[in-house]
Amino acid sequence: MNVINEMTLKFKALSENEAFARSCVAAFCVQLNPTLDEITDIKTAVSEAVTNCVVHAYPKEEGEITLNVKLTRDSAIISISDEGIGISNFEKARQPFFTTKPSEERSGMGFTVMESFMDKVYLLKNKTKGVTVLMEKKFGEEEKKIMGE
Ligand code: ATP
Ligand code: MG
Repeated sequence: MNVINEMTLKFKALSENEAFARSCVAAFCVQLNPTLDEITDIKTAVSEAVTNCVVHAYPKEEGEITLNVKLTRDSAIISISDEGIGISNFEKARQPFFTTKPSEERSGMGFTVMESFMDKVYLLKNKTKGVTVLMEKKFGEEEKKIMGE
């Protein structure tokens, strides 16, 4: 993997920062000339991952979110981590409609949305505390399909 550019952001786990985070990632990825659809996909997935940190990671205290984006010639690798309570069962958490907060009108579709909009989604347990969502978006996939590659 040849990383040609990279950035890291750290911000408080507040809902006010959801729009900030997705706009920053989109602005950073623009240098690879993505399509509007590709940018929308990335924004949607980043929103879900950041919202999860805001809603689930820190039920009792304030916390921070670290966002890292690496760009290769034709892809973006995005990592979103928290140092919160963590997830005890990854497999369950990723299932459609699984939520630990049904009372708050959560539908349990966050990970499913990330998986459908990104090419790869990994859920990792941090060494210290919390989780990292690692996602990859490849650019130009639609074009390749049209060209019959
Ligand atoms: P929705 O995203 O549809 O509003 P949701 O957030 O509950 O609902 P998912 O995003 O799929 O659904 O997440 C599933 C479950 O995984 C959550 O209900 C929560 O228990 C757990 N989870 C997700 N992200 C984190 C996190 N960063 N820290 C702790 N738990 C998390
Ligand atoms: Mg969610």
